[in-house]
Amino acid sequence: MNSEGQLYDVVIVGAGIVGTALAWKLSSEGYRVCVCERSETATPSLRLEPLSHAALGLLREMGLWEHLRPALMPLDSVAHFRNGYLVKGMGGGSYVAAYDQLVASLRPRLAKVATVIWDRVVQVSAHGRIKSVRLESGQVVCGWMVVLATGAATGEELDPLEGPVETICEDYCRLFACDLAFEEPERLMHAALVFQTSHASHGYHSLKLFDLGGGRVRANFLTYWGATDKRRQELLRGNGAAVLGRTVEGLLPCAGAFDLLSPIEENVVHLNQPGNPGDHGFVLAGDACGPAAPSGALGLHKGLHDVRVLAELMPRWEREARGGNADFSDYYAHPAKQAIDAEVLERSLRERKMAIDWHPSWATRRLIGDRFPGWVETALVGPSSRNGARPGQTSRSGLDN
Ligand SMILES: Cc1cc2nc3c(=O)[nH]c(=O)nc-3n(C[C@H](O)[C@H](O)[C@H](O)COP(=O)(O)OP(=O)(O)OC[C@H]3O[C@@H](n4cnc5c(N)ncnc54)[C@H](O)[C@@H]3O)c2cc1C
Repeated sequence: MNSEGQLYDVVIVGAGIVGTALAWKLSSEGYRVCVCERSETATPSLRLEPLSHAALGLLREMGLWEHLRPALMPLDSVAHFRNGYLVKGMGGGSYVAAYDQLVASLRPRLAKVATVIWDRVVQVSAHGRIKSVRLESGQVVCGWMVVLATGAATGEELDPLEGPVETICEDYCRLFACDLAFEEPERLMHAALVFQTSHASHGYHSLKLFDLGGGRVRANFLTYWGATDKRRQELLRGNGAAVLGRTVEGLLPCAGAFDLLSPIEENVVHLNQPGNPGDHGFVLAGDACGPAAPSGALGLHKGLHDVRVLAELMPRWEREARGGNADFSDYYAHPAKQAIDAEVLERSLRERKMAIDWHPSWATRRLIGDRFPGWVETALVGPSSRNGARPGQTSRSGLDN
């Protein structure tokens, strides 16, 4: 389809999971959609995590599930350790996915329902009835609505708001990822292992190991370490195996020695949100509207909720746009959006406090979490079953209880 000179209903900037899902949904409802994406391949598999059941439900509801299914790897058993003790074992029902593969499984299908332009958007003009985006090549694409699904701001992104970004938590967390090879892979015994600690001084949320097969284990290590933290510097200086082995309680006794197969990738997440989310003539969706903590596996859930709310409001905006100018501000005030945004923010901040806050109330919760993990509402700590299982003594039968 030739995009030049054509007026679309909606121009979506960004073909990450949110932009793609939105384009899919709106196209299926008969809207003419154009998606502008700067990069033909998504960032490789840094975001390899279990997908929440809520996110899976939304993907099913949008008819995306069957297309994503081949990119998802089922987890048939997950073992959770706290302070080096096995506290919970889970059977299957959960999936992990490499983010680039998720996106790659959707994008070719996107081209069948929408116009896709591979170019960076450098400017958004959102005044008046017809909005437009300018691409690096100079091409201009127009629609009565523009949605920015450009992901979490890293400083290089398009900044069309020209307004303050409200920083809720700078350097909220650092996620380190790499592939590992264990000397005795048979000791892992599970598709995924999750290690947590209740010692605030350790400063991490979790180390998650995913068995990718072929002797490769993906490690996602989510920390609250600052930029100047010595452990971070040592980790990035090439001493990764030693730092992980020393810092993560129970890792060496349970899983044994390992080597790094890839350099350590670092991803810093700042929690922020648009300072003045009024009507700018365009809307922000997904991480562009404020990222979620990677620990809670809520990013996708939140982004897909945005898609659902946008799709619900679209018919009314379309009528308004025909009659003059649509007012998009009710998107941010939508009760479902406000509820999910508030929940995600609250949970993100709570998880950080739960991991590293020294205030007696959080220290007490950690203590209770040690004795009665089921009492503490954190994402990953479940019902206790210490069962006397000590590091290195886990068994599949113990987990199935
Ligand atoms: C390390 C990490 C781990 C995570 N783990 C989980 C998890 O386990 N579970 C979960 O649910 N969520 C997780 N998340 C969050 C989840 O990945 C995000 O919430 C989700 O990817 C947001 O999707 P998005 O489409 O809004 O943004 P993105 O996926 O970032 O996509 C944005 C797209 O916009 C494009 N773009 C940006 N600027 C422009 C421009 N100017 N012109 C054209 N294109 C542009 C980019 O190239 C990109 O393709 C994690 C996030 C991170 C960073």
